[in-house]
Amino acid sequence: MPLTATDLRKLSYLKCNHAALRVHLALLKLELAYNTALKAEVQDHPTTHYIWRTRGDGKVRAAHAANNGRVFSWDNPPPTGHPGEDYNCRCTPEPYVRGESEFAYQTLTSPVNDSSPKWESVDFVWHAVIHGDAVTLSEIGRLQDVIDHYAYVAEGGVFERVSQQVIDTARSTRNGYFSYDFSNSYAFKEIAFPFGNSTVFGIFKGYVSEKNGMMKIEGTVEYFFDDDYTDPAGIRQRHYGTSDPTMVDAIERYITDGGGGVYGITGQWQTVFQAEAKLNENDSRYKWSEDER
Ligand SMILES: [Zn+2]
Repeated sequence: MPLTATDLRKLSYLKCNHAALRVHLALLKLELAYNTALKAEVQDHPTTHYIWRTRGDGKVRAAHAANNGRVFSWDNPPPTGHPGEDYNCRCTPEPYVRGESEFAYQTLTSPVNDSSPKWESVDFVWHAVIHGDAVTLSEIGRLQDVIDHYAYVAEGGVFERVSQQVIDTARSTRNGYFSYDFSNSYAFKEIAFPFGNSTVFGIFKGYVSEKNGMMKIEGTVEYFFDDDYTDPAGIRQRHYGTSDPTMVDAIERYITDGGGGVYGITGQWQTVFQAEAKLNENDSRYKWSEDER
């Protein structure tokens, strides 16, 4: 029996319906997949933001140490990617809860105008030979290297140590203006051999306000680098236990300085400091004890 016009209409209607059903099913599947993904996302990330935490040891790469203590959004990863994403990264994200979570970080605000090329060992020696004047880290193209080494490598990262000291000082102020000054020597030999034992000193100036046991701290930190190029072969260091040129007589000094002159190397930089930390140091991850100094 041939199909009537009505039959054909019905058939085409069924076909259309079937197609529509398939589209509908596909959409349902997509939605299900999306919901599952969303659920996984929520389970993975209980908060929209997290605080980057490093292991705090000497193996942390500088770019990750620079993220330490900073608050990031899961939707907007830093250039390094989220914690743990990079090869061999041991950093972890700590859920961030506004008003409860502790964080502390410093952001470099002074310009780094390093001249190019960087001074290498031979340049330091030559400058002594020609009895050159004092130089700045920028003039020898080494300011960025020194800041990175100091902030994120030396002693496991001195920015973190300064943060702990500033927070510890804030506890005794609790509300209002306070300042904190510090000074220490560090070996910067990994950058270039003339940086044997360099002094970095500085001062924090800022404010703390306390509410419900939580301190909010904001301020600036100024850092000053100070070193002398002297005793290039380490002869005084070996023979007299010090590189200090005033500890030997003029002849010995001339010999140990390799016939060259002593010159100063200085530098400075500034950061903005931001932190929120618990007033009670027993509940806090940011504390500082005298014997760590
Ligand atoms: Zn890492």
